[in-house]
Amino acid sequence: MVAAAGLAGASGAEAAPVPVIESFQCTNGCPSAGGVVSGSKLKIRGRNLADVTTVVFHGRSGSGDDTSVGVEPASDTTIRLTVPPEAATGPLAAWVGPGAHSRPTGTLTVREASEPKPRPGPSPPPSTPAEPPPAERAPEPQSAAPRIETSTSGDKLFYGQRRGLVFTYRVRHPEPVSVRIDLVRLSERRVVKSWSRPRVSPDTIQSVSWGGGARRRMAPEGRYAFRITAVGKNGVKVSNSAATRKSPDAFVLFGHIFPIRGKHDYGSSGSRFGSGRSGRSHQGQDVFARCGTPLVAARGGVVKFNQYHSAAGNYIVIDGAGTGVDYAYMHLTSRSPLKPGQRVATGQAIGTVGESGNAQGCHLHFEMWSAPGWYDGGRPFDPLPSLRSWDAAS
Ligand SMILES: [Zn+2]
Repeated sequence: MVAAAGLAGASGAEAAPVPVIESFQCTNGCPSAGGVVSGSKLKIRGRNLADVTTVVFHGRSGSGDDTSVGVEPASDTTIRLTVPPEAATGPLAAWVGPGAHSRPTGTLTVREASEPKPRPGPSPPPSTPAEPPPAERAPEPQSAAPRIETSTSGDKLFYGQRRGLVFTYRVRHPEPVSVRIDLVRLSERRVVKSWSRPRVSPDTIQSVSWGGGARRRMAPEGRYAFRITAVGKNGVKVSNSAATRKSPDAFVLFGHIFPIRGKHDYGSSGSRFGSGRSGRSHQGQDVFARCGTPLVAARGGVVKFNQYHSAAGNYIVIDGAGTGVDYAYMHLTSRSPLKPGQRVATGQAIGTVGESGNAQGCHLHFEMWSAPGWYDGGRPFDPLPSLRSWDAAS
């Protein structure tokens, strides 16, 4: 969602320039209906944002439902933040200090996250070295333990897809609880990312989202699960069913999605990489599908070229985010709507299978080039093993 906002600050100290919010946009963990949910990533654009320390969610009425978030601006023109659980629908404002703040923006819609499902439980939390042995804990009646309900928005995550995976939870308890959510890589039982929420209101729907990154790169492909642990005021700890492959909060992370979204086949030996083509060799793999079958970006990134060529027809080349590899898609029905320089999400539509240029039959001619890329010092390599493995997964 992008919304226009106020143009100038209402007031400000002499020293700090008044911040101006020009637009805001949900970038990850966004509900399909638009707006944001708790845990969504929000990108704010504007001017004079470098000194902003706080963004206020004003809510609907008065200051009773205001929520503020401490921020560290990415630049003078950009702030990124995670929507806090308490945020309510209403305008936003950026503050640099007492009295110096932007004008309120237009309304940001904050939605209730999808309804979490009750889990059988509570189940005992996995023990960690930091925990005291059970004997040292005060004995508590079982009924004093919080109950946890959880839900995960999908069972597959493609790195770089437009919306990350959203983990939604609700804790049933008489009073606020402290919550920790761990994202566990199941093959090695390793925690790759954690979220701490020291004081979560009971009986409200909360969420966090994950796009597949860890320490600024893609986490390894494989199975993961969200594991949530809640601690009530009395110290009683509960967790959702131990994170396992069968957990309803488990999913698989993939680095690519198969680019043809319909029935297809890999043709004969002449379709292979390296097969003869009058005086040269075939630099990609041909995959046949009906003309008009949707094509998506196997891996998101940045559009390098979107052009027409007498042999390649309508083609597009995407520099894959975090891979160093360039992906070329040829013979599209018509020119892709994407512009050079534009960011593309994994799985985003790039056009349809066609037979433009020098093509016998409707097919995608697909190339992969090693860094630094397509006709830019890289070399084409056989994409068939990759295509087959993406095909099997997606
Ligand atoms: Zn070809």
